[in-house]
Amino acid sequence: MSATALLEHLRTAKAEGCTRCHLHRGRNRLVFGSGNPEAAIVVVGEGPGEQENREGAPFVGPAGQWLTVLLKRAGLTRDEIYLLNVVKCRPPGNRVPTETEIHACSPFLHVQLAIIRPRVIVAVGGVPGRYLSGESSDAAVGYLRSRDWVYHNPVSGLTCPLVVTYHPSFVLRKSQEEPSAAKEAALKVLADFGKAIRIARGD
Ligand code: SF4
Repeated sequence: MSATALLEHLRTAKAEGCTRCHLHRGRNRLVFGSGNPEAAIVVVGEGPGEQENREGAPFVGPAGQWLTVLLKRAGLTRDEIYLLNVVKCRPPGNRVPTETEIHACSPFLHVQLAIIRPRVIVAVGGVPGRYLSGESSDAAVGYLRSRDWVYHNPVSGLTCPLVVTYHPSFVLRKSQEEPSAAKEAALKVLADFGKAIRIARGD
């Protein structure tokens, strides 16, 4: 079965209608993931926001538009990569998902990664960065992005480099509060995607 068919089966047979955690209560649309099922680069975010919950697709709100711009500047399109989140249902008020919710949803994430088998994973933001690197709950993104990580899943056998960078919502927020800091953050995100592209190409 193709990666497309396997992902579709996972979405329709397992994820749609999931009640493994109480985030399902606020779910309008499940946000499973989108993009190329055979992508060399998978981008993992935190969870759906308001617009994602309405549309059922990841990174479609204002932060997602920022991500699209940053990806384009890095030389990538959304269709070339696969985008997904750690949790598939929107946490109320866009709060950070709890450890219990992340744990409940994690099988979907790991199976998605096992199906896609990327050459590199890019975690955008502290939640996916800490979860996928296995670092402690107070590890800052600045610390995580400055180190090399490896994602390893003993069940699927998937092992690949993990790059951590800032979430586009951080860059967006900074652009409204402190434009010079936003530019600096955007350059760091571009550098991190550049690193991921080099890894994906085997440079
Ligand atoms: Fe299920 Fe994940 Fe949604 Fe929780 S967040 S209900 S585990 S799909």
